[in-house]
Amino acid sequence: MAMIETTSLCRKFHVGDTWVHALDHVDLRIAEGDFVAVMGPSGSGKSTLMNILGCLDTPDGGHYQLLDLEVATLSDDELSRIRNQKIGFVFQSFHLLPRMTARENVLLPLRYSNADLAVARDRADDLLDRLGLADRLDHRPNQLSGGQRQRVAIARSLINAPPLLLADEPTGNLDSRTSVEIMELFSELNRQGQTILMVTHEEEIAAHANRLIRMRDGKIEHDSSVH
Ligand code: ADP
Ligand code: MG
Repeated sequence: MAMIETTSLCRKFHVGDTWVHALDHVDLRIAEGDFVAVMGPSGSGKSTLMNILGCLDTPDGGHYQLLDLEVATLSDDELSRIRNQKIGFVFQSFHLLPRMTARENVLLPLRYSNADLAVARDRADDLLDRLGLADRLDHRPNQLSGGQRQRVAIARSLINAPPLLLADEPTGNLDSRTSVEIMELFSELNRQGQTILMVTHEEEIAAHANRLIRMRDGKIEHDSSVH
């Protein structure tokens, strides 16, 4: 089964008195277990694509199927459930809540669910342990390094065991050594079956993925899986 399938996906924005075609008829298929890097110049549509795939934005043309569901037909409730259960999203700026501890941040996606809190806490601690933060559970973001904050954000994105992990420039705010650590973590998650789609502007970071997509002017200019 395809994790993601888009056909002729379009998204345009009205800017000044013209339209910017941020996505211009994008056809994309991502299989379960793929680890894909998306590259391309600033403004080429990478974030627009991620936001639509993450169900944070809606296309104004074409189709998007996520796990065989036609996303456009889903109700708001269904969409928020999909976002919560099926998709983990990691951003360049970690978006952690400053007054909460690492563990509390990781537990945030469960706030409105009826998950058993003790089980959830164990899972949060287990994730933070796997990400090398076992001794940082009760630290607040300002007591953590950039790399540690991003690992907390990754743990939060994985708390519901989503089949799809989307990351928009996840190492954009990190030094190169920390970036490599985050990529080793992504590779390990991918070896365990996690599907990952990641935007980066660094070739060395993209090299960790097993498929590379290059975008330009809202189009897929090159896809290493298509020969
Ligand atoms: P990238 O992530 O590759 O840098 P984006 O997807 O953010 O590119 O943007 C693609 C194009 O769409 C750019 O020209 C950008 O200015 C435009 N764009 C993106 N979001 C908006 C928005 N909310 N309003 C207006 N224009 C936007
Ligand atoms: Mg972007």
